Amino acid sequence: MIVAAGGLVLSFLPLPLVAFEMRSAGAVSEVPELHAASGSELAEIESETGERPGESSVIGGDESVEPFTTIGFRLSEPLADPVYVRLIQSDGSYGEWNQLDPTDEGPDEGTAEAAGASVTTDPLFVGSATGYEVSLPSGADAEVVTVHDRMQRVSVESTSFASTTPPPFSIKRTTDWGARPVTGVATAQKLTLGVIHHTAGSNNYTAAQVPSILRGIQAFHIDGRGWTDAGYNFAVDKFGTVWEMRATSVDANAIGAHAIAFNTGSVGVAILGDYISSTAPDVAIEGAAQVFGWKLASNGVDPTGRTAFTAGSGSNLFSAGTVANLSTIVGHRETSSTSCPGRIMEQLGSMRARAGFWASQSLGGASPTGAIDSIKISGVNVVVTGWLRDEDTWDTISGVFVNRDRRVTIPSNGGSYRFVVSDVAFPGTNEVCIIGINVFGGRNQPVDCKTIVK
Ligand SMILES: [Zn+2]
Repeated sequence: MIVAAGGLVLSFLPLPLVAFEMRSAGAVSEVPELHAASGSELAEIESETGERPGESSVIGGDESVEPFTTIGFRLSEPLADPVYVRLIQSDGSYGEWNQLDPTDEGPDEGTAEAAGASVTTDPLFVGSATGYEVSLPSGADAEVVTVHDRMQRVSVESTSFASTTPPPFSIKRTTDWGARPVTGVATAQKLTLGVIHHTAGSNNYTAAQVPSILRGIQAFHIDGRGWTDAGYNFAVDKFGTVWEMRATSVDANAIGAHAIAFNTGSVGVAILGDYISSTAPDVAIEGAAQVFGWKLASNGVDPTGRTAFTAGSGSNLFSAGTVANLSTIVGHRETSSTSCPGRIMEQLGSMRARAGFWASQSLGGASPTGAIDSIKISGVNVVVTGWLRDEDTWDTISGVFVNRDRRVTIPSNGGSYRFVVSDVAFPGTNEVCIIGINVFGGRNQPVDCKTIVK
């Protein structure tokens, strides 16, 4: 506070910072009149996509649409066949036909988010287009969803990390790509599973286009699909940059809409691009490994281990309530029947190994703690009871019982951190120590020693 001449008090209140930034919104409109596809049109689609649409397909389009960045189609019911679309380029000509598969992501059934959700194709990022032509199976009831970028006056807030375990690598927050603020994202107490996806669509994007791609996905998921927010928790671009997508995914365990029946208690990471016919760049695999290692480790889960995950609702692979025995990092096709994430499946081994490294970087490095609660001689044996745990994991850990130079491994015991170990006692003084075997950060640690005379 400054008191100016004449007693005027000048106080400095923080002024809200405003700026003009790009924001995106989806518009839903009717598909214009469609005509029966001719043989030459079907042949053109086949030569450009490698797939021939059904003979009774219908084609139509709109040549004057306000410039859009992303396009997809909302359907009254799931289609067995793909939808095809081509775009009018900046020079006025049509580009090649693209195949749009039905989206296989979605919220868990029975949730509030699922209640208002629509069936759609995957969205396609197009950069900037002003018209389109679509080929649909005959009889399909479809609407077109286009995403438009607009400059808006927004208040700028800096984002700090509220999570107890901040990531040990750099991460772009939702405020860094112009995400629309959302409310109502549900969170889970604990994560035990990581699911990797690809987004399909184009691999020919530039680093500068990534924020627009992310806004297109979010706008399509909110305005086209009727979801609360973007379906994925995180995205990684082909340059290796990690982006927070669904709100609160960094600071909490946001429940996504990326893997039906497996959303609650999992983290979904999408690598931007189509990896059906090629593997993903190593830097993108590394970005996904960073997210999985950090999120799983901060939930006390080993990213190189396995999990028994109960399917919350049904997917087309697991019925509701089924316990799926899975690696803690899986490809989307391991939770439901889908081609996602394509050839990234071949890269899961290295992704898990690198996630193990990032898990160790993420943890405070707690070493095992524990105590010997009782020690007694029973017949020829010395019997020791106590407890042993490592703050880096919810799981039990194993330990070693040492008496003089005898060492016996203490098996980890499911469900509690207690142990009972019995081994041959020596005549005279037995000095017994228990060593906790470390997991993640930290080191093996003698936690307690006691002596007893036989
Ligand atoms: Zn997927």
